Order: sequence, then C-alpha cells, then structure tokens
Amino acid sequence: MGMDPPLEPSADQRQAAGLTMTSTLRRASPFLVLGALTVALPLTGNGYWGVIGTRAAIYWILVSGLDLVVGFAGQLAIGYVGLLALGAYTTSVVCARTDLGAFAGLAAAGVLGAAFGVLVGLPALRLRTFYFAMTTLGFATIVTQVALAWSGVTGGGIGLPGPVLPHPFDGPWGFYLFCLALAAFCTWMCCNIAASRFGRSLIALRDVEVAAEALGIAKPRLFVTVFLFSGALAGIAGGLFAALQSYITPDAFTFDLSVLFFIAILVGGRGSVLGPLLGTIMLTVLPEFAAPLVAWSTFLYAVLLLAIVLLLPGGIAELLDFSARRALPADRAIRPRPQFLENMFDHTEAPARLELRGIRLHFGGVHAIDGLDLDIAPGTVHGLIGPNGSGKTTTLNVISGFASPQEGAVAIGAAPLAPGKPRSRAGRGVARTFQTPRIIGEASVLDNVMTGGAIDGRASFLECAFALPRCRREEAGLRARALLALRIVGLDTLAEVRADRLQHSELRFLEIARALLLHPAFLLLDEPAAGLSAEEIRRLGALIREISRRGTGVLLVEHHADLIFDICDRVTVLNLGRELAAGTPAEIRAHQEVVSVYLGA
Ligand code: ADP
Ligand code: MG
Repeated sequence: MGMDPPLEPSADQRQAAGLTMTSTLRRASPFLVLGALTVALPLTGNGYWGVIGTRAAIYWILVSGLDLVVGFAGQLAIGYVGLLALGAYTTSVVCARTDLGAFAGLAAAGVLGAAFGVLVGLPALRLRTFYFAMTTLGFATIVTQVALAWSGVTGGGIGLPGPVLPHPFDGPWGFYLFCLALAAFCTWMCCNIAASRFGRSLIALRDVEVAAEALGIAKPRLFVTVFLFSGALAGIAGGLFAALQSYITPDAFTFDLSVLFFIAILVGGRGSVLGPLLGTIMLTVLPEFAAPLVAWSTFLYAVLLLAIVLLLPGGIAELLDFSARRALPADRAIRPRPQFLENMFDHTEAPARLELRGIRLHFGGVHAIDGLDLDIAPGTVHGLIGPNGSGKTTTLNVISGFASPQEGAVAIGAAPLAPGKPRSRAGRGVARTFQTPRIIGEASVLDNVMTGGAIDGRASFLECAFALPRCRREEAGLRARALLALRIVGLDTLAEVRADRLQHSELRFLEIARALLLHPAFLLLDEPAAGLSAEEIRRLGALIREISRRGTGVLLVEHHADLIFDICDRVTVLNLGRELAAGTPAEIRAHQEVVSVYLGA
C-alpha cells in the first residue's frame, strides 16, 4: 500500500538484467572452451593432436544429447555405443552402396539413430534404474552381434570402409573443423534446451516426480522427444566416428567406449552442459597421457567414478559453481508481500465449487476416508483439521488425483475430476503443496518456481533448441512471472540461490510460489505452517488470506489451531476419516466433541 508501484517494475528489470548477465556468462562458457580448442590445436600443427581433438568433438556430439537423458532426466542409459555403431554402419553402408554421398549417409544415420533412440529409451517409462540400464546394454550387444552376422551388408568381422566427407572436409584439419563446428552447434542446442521449460521439466521428473505430475508435466511425451533427439545426435556422431576411423569393424564399438560416454556425464556433473563437455575432453585426452596404462583403462574409469561419487558428487560443474559458495545472510526473514498478488492473477470467471461427494477410500483394512462430503467455495479459505492419521493428506491426494477412492466423486462445478490422474489437475487449476516440500535442491530457487509454469509453454522442443522467438518470449514472460511470485512470497532476494541451501521454512514459501504460477482456482496446502516461527505463521496467514481474496479457493490442512481459526471461513474436522464437525471457526471452537477429541483442554 505504502509502496510506490512505478518503482517496482524497474526493480524487477534490474533484477532480471542481473540474472541475464550471470546466466549469459554461464551459458557462454561451453563455447569459450570449444573456441579455445578450435584455435589452439591447429596452432600446434600436430596432426596427432588434431585427431584427438576431432575424436573429442565427435564423442561430445553424442554426449551432448546423452546428457539430456542421463544428466537431466537421470536415466541410466549406458549402452549408447549401440547407437554410435548403428550410425557408423548406416553412414558407411550408404556411402559404399549408393552415390548419395557422406552427408546423405549422416542424415540417414541421424534418422535411424532417432528411431532406435526411442526404441531403446521407451523401457525407461516402465523400468527403473538398473533394469533400464541393462536393456540399453542389451541393445548395444545386439547391434554388434548383428554387425558381425549380417556380413553381406556390414562386411562382418572384416568390416567396411568409413565414409569420406567431400572437399574441404576430407583433409584432417578440414574434418576437424567440421566436427568442432557441429559440436558447437550441438552445444548451443543443448544449452538452449537446458535453459528452457524442457530442461527444467526433465530435472523435475528426475528429482521430484510427484511434484512434476502435480504441475502437469507429461513424462511420456517429454521422454520420447528427448530420446529422439539424443538418438539422432548419437547416430550422426557414429557416422563421423566411422569417417575418423576410416575403416570400421564391430570391435571398434567396445563397452569401454559406452562407459566413457556415461562417466563423462557423471564426472561433469548432472544437470550441467559445461561439466560433461569438460568431462568428455578429459576422458578422451586422459588415455593419451597414460598410454602405458591402456590395459588399465577400465580400472582407471572405475577409480575415477568412485572418487567422484565419494568426493565430488556434483562433478566438475559443482567445482565450477562459485556462486554456491557465496555465503547467504544467516538471519534473513521471509517477508511476503501479498499486495503484489493483484499483478499475478484475478479470477473473474463465474465461480464454481470444488465438491467431494461420498468419498470412501481404504488401504486394506485401514479406512483412511470413510464417507466424506466437502465443499470448497472459490474465494474462501477452508480449514481441514484433525488428529494425525485422520485422513487429511489422503483427502488432498484424492482431490489432486494421487489416490483413487473406491467410492465417491470429485468435481469442480459440474465437471468431474477423473480419479487417479494427477497430471490432469494443473490444467484444471488445482495446485498443491506437500507435507514434505518437494523441491529440486540442485536447481535455483527461480528455476524451481519456473517449473510451475510448465503447462503454459507452447513452443515446441525444436523451437526451444533453436531459441526461436516464441520460445524466448515465453521464457521471458515466465521468468517475470516467477520473479513476481517470489516477490509475493518474499523470496526474491534468493532467486539465484540453489534451493538446497534454503531453510525449511523458506522451502514452504517456495512451494507456494511455484503453485502460484498455475494461477490456481483451488490451492491445496498440506501443513504449510509446520516448522515455521510464530511470526512466519502470521505472515503466512496474511498471504493465504490475500490469495483467497483474489478468488482462489484454499484448502488448508493445518495443526496450528490459531492459524486455522484466524484465517478460515469454514472449518471441517476429521476423525478416523469421517467428518466430526463442520462450521465457522467460532462454531468449531465451541463444539463439545471437537474440543474433547482434538483441541484438548
Ligand atoms: P493425516 O494427513 O490426517 O495425518 P493421512 O491421510 O496421511 O492422515 O492417513 C490416514 C490414514 O491412512 C492413516 O491411518 C495412514 O496410516 C493411512 N494411510 C495413508 N496413506 C497410506 C498408504 N499409502 N498405504 C496405507 N495406509 C495409508
Ligand atoms: Mg498428513
């Protein structure tokens, strides 16, 4: 109120400008590395180093795509050498059997790589961790077996000559520059995707899958897209690999090579592009310095991996993240500014109630909810209280689709909310927080909030890969909205900080900011005041109150009776999954049974 509104946008702009400066520097760093390589190696005039530089560039073309699968999506895809072999053979066969030339061969390798990338990747939707890892490994084995057996096409154990690129890329330095240029292009695409809603959604699925579902992020579609993309890059890398080898046989595609790709990402650090790039260069160059140790390479990889896991779990990227070591103010207090909510959203459409009718849900013999009716009106705060185990969280799970009741229905007005479909809720304007905050610790506070706006994104994967205007526009808008949400909950000064450095109470407000990005018609809060100080609870109450004033219907599960009685319009008391009482705060406070069962003396 006392604030001067015209000042605020400029503060916003200043902050946005500060953020773009650092993120520009961060995003430029991989290109600085590649640029330095491009200039340095030809200067040495040493052809041998040229070959190693070319090899590093080719490996990186594969790893840059694989990084999205392993580093961002967190999938243990260890058999990517299979896609490399597939690309190598495809390009070589096209060149040997047709007059289409090396570029057509590379294109074919990209297409085939994409198709098989999806085939290899799809099990990730059902299989977890090691089971998925084994299927990718199985694929790699099959490819080399087929290459051996199908001698009519592949030359079997004798092999076949690799493709030769047309002039001026046929000489060693010409080929070197071609590979580096392509590597730079791949780096650019991967950085763009990493910085877009696709990169954030992948990390959300990796670290907080349940929250990602509640935000409406569609895993199957995203995974298929990413596997297509990384498969295409792996196929193209294979074609270039064949050109570099000039002659390929099945034993060129060893398991060691696959391990190298995978470990380069772990050594580099997940969720980073620069780290895995440095990791790839390191692992390509390392054997050259340790030539006498070639026989030990598998052993060395194992030692390196162990050292990283134990000493530096965040990889090279963590080592290079200087801002993470900058101290945060210790005695910082959260000061929400609910007055800015009016810039965020306002529900003017005809209000409909969120209605639960006759909900019954039992887990085996436990009746978690036993015939519950509940009405939440827009623009009100509805308190849900009761002893531990009385079914409050389960009620939230029913509304948000994580739990399917055996009986009863949930609807907004006349439109039913399908049971067991958590991903559909974000689109219907139902947002929630969790009893234990589900926050991506490795992502910045701002990125966490921006994840909340994933369903508003319209720009396609390729539009984002090429940083086309629609994607950039959406990102800028999303960033501004996320900063606004952070200002509303009072976390704007921590926007760039890694979320795992926040205090517990700050995580609760962060979850609310993320939920606000959905401009929710209904907001479900599961014990948001747990772990907060009395002063913070008071501020939280004012914030929730203001959110409801903007038209949102809030369902508030809480143990702090003061907060409930202060800000709720209506209160429902649960006991053993049943409604014990319902009414205004004053009625509940005076209710005999509630006092004896729950509120105590
Ligand atoms: P509240 O949030 O009110 O403390 P919950 O809704 O978490 O309670 O739990 C209600 C009851 O259902 C408890 O008895 C709990 O043990 C049981 N319950 C909750 N979730 C499950 C589950 N996934 N499997 C089995 N029992 C569960
Ligand atoms: Mg609970």
